[in-house]
Amino acid sequence: MLAAGIAMALFTPRETLHFATPGFIELYDIQPGQQSLASILRHCAETGVGPVFEADDIEPWLVKNREELRHGGSLHFEVAMRDGRWVLGTKTQLSDGWIVLVITDFTAVKRREFRLESDRDAALIAAETDHLTGIYNRGATMVRFGRLVERATKTGEVFSAVLIDLDMFKAINDQHGHDGGDQVLVHFAACATQALRERDILGRVGGEEFLIIMPGATRKQAHTVIERLQAHVRDQRLILGGATLRYTFSAGIAEWKRSKTLDGLYHEADQALYAAKHAGRNQVKLAG
Ligand code: GH3
Ligand code: MG
Ligand code: MG
Repeated sequence: MLAAGIAMALFTPRETLHFATPGFIELYDIQPGQQSLASILRHCAETGVGPVFEADDIEPWLVKNREELRHGGSLHFEVAMRDGRWVLGTKTQLSDGWIVLVITDFTAVKRREFRLESDRDAALIAAETDHLTGIYNRGATMVRFGRLVERATKTGEVFSAVLIDLDMFKAINDQHGHDGGDQVLVHFAACATQALRERDILGRVGGEEFLIIMPGATRKQAHTVIERLQAHVRDQRLILGGATLRYTFSAGIAEWKRSKTLDGLYHEADQALYAAKHAGRNQVKLAG
């Protein structure tokens, strides 16, 4: 920590160091003998002390740094130091050419900023995540669905929406308890994640209902993917508290066409899902 959090140095118009506070000497590891701004920074770069330089080669950086100052006035900069400190600097060229460099230690402020950023990122992720399965929750899914409809309305790109409902889930809860049911939900979310591409959007939109949005996929392509997922799920045997369990799902698929709204497309997928249930469950139906 700098004394009172501040360090200062004064350079002649030819950039020779004229005066520096002890804090400044320590921060930039200033060596005995005559020093210039360039020799101080070069020493830092060569010995790995003082500020972190973004450039590999310091020479072009020094030239650029000098040019910036030539314009006169004040220059403000924020620098990470190699020892983890953060400093704010103000470099001012006075009218007679002398240069004043004032450095303020703001490590505490910077640390708070980092902590707030990571807290905010964690809160954003939590707000969009279904806590049981770890996939998107309903809100986050619908927001992404809406964005894709908006984009496709402009570009005309193809995409499909798949609505999935696990079959006879009430019976699963009855036989294996609510926790057993929860494990099935987690299992299904993991299988679906595995089966989908990175760009597909998978969300839990209800108790045992899931929505998949597949950008770039026609309903036929979506059908192939969902049938593969269905066959995979059908083959699984879950062991829940000593009992073995198998489960299935039904799905409805609708393909987006220009002029269709989000609600319209959702409704079509829902109708197709209803048809799949009506036809005996454990199957996939296409809308229309
Ligand atoms: P169908 O094949 O017609 O879909 O039959 P179903 O029994 O799945 O139908 P229904 O939609 O009526 O039942 C869904 C059940 O899912 C009812 C509810 O208790 C259960 N459920 C909803 N959310 C959760 C959850 O988070 N965990 C568990 N374990 N069960 C849930
Ligand atoms: Mg349901
Ligand atoms: Mg169900």
